[in-house]
Amino acid sequence: MQAVSVHGDVVVVRSEMWQTTCTVVHHGDETFVIDSPVFQDELDALPAILAQAGWSPSGLLCTHGDWDHVLARIVFPDASLGVAETTAARLRAEPGDAQRSLREFDDENYVERTRPLTLGHVQTLPVPGRLDIADAELELMPADGHTEDGMAIRVSWAGVVVCGDYLSPVEIPWLSETGSRDAYLATLERLRPWVEEATWVVPGHGTPLDAARALAIMREDVAYLEALPDPAAPLPLARRTAAQRKIHEENLTRVKTP
Ligand SMILES: [Zn+2]
Repeated sequence: MQAVSVHGDVVVVRSEMWQTTCTVVHHGDETFVIDSPVFQDELDALPAILAQAGWSPSGLLCTHGDWDHVLARIVFPDASLGVAETTAARLRAEPGDAQRSLREFDDENYVERTRPLTLGHVQTLPVPGRLDIADAELELMPADGHTEDGMAIRVSWAGVVVCGDYLSPVEIPWLSETGSRDAYLATLERLRPWVEEATWVVPGHGTPLDAARALAIMREDVAYLEALPDPAAPLPLARRTAAQRKIHEENLTRVKTP
């Protein structure tokens, strides 16, 4: 696991698994933890990272409802989880799904957990909208297309955009079962002005990116998505691994031939 401070108020933790990111945002006397790392020891390190900075958690946020992003409650069991309406609806519609997926992953990889995952009180946030953090605000924008749900979060004073599973340097655009190419492309367009103004863009998977690199990934991702459902749609050059080809195969089943 890696933890880097991209701003005095923002720490990004990156999991060994899928490079899943967790972003800790602090202002005044409030601290939000966005998304989560995957392994138990990485989760266990989170309270210590906050404590070291002298921060205590006010709440948890999730960019979307995929199980690997909602694990922070395992180590912050008293914190409430704030999500977009779309994510709240998804979690309500599929109760126990995150726990089931987590159990399958743990069984397959022999991962042991000290505590179970409960999502507890899920707080629905209006998106687009704003969330108070002490005397400042986080900006929330809808981010769907990878899945049917989700939001991107901008920490304006720090120049940081936490965008969820978009603009990843390690994962091609992934249209999951409830995903949509058109929604994905629309989300990238909505993100563009935020990315252009950002100092750091934190993708759901992979290292934080400066604006130029994030915009380069955006160009590659738009080109890839627009080429679907052509099976020969070229994968972005730096993301042509066997794992990414599998995602590409899955994407082909999501986009109908015109
Ligand atoms: Zn993800």
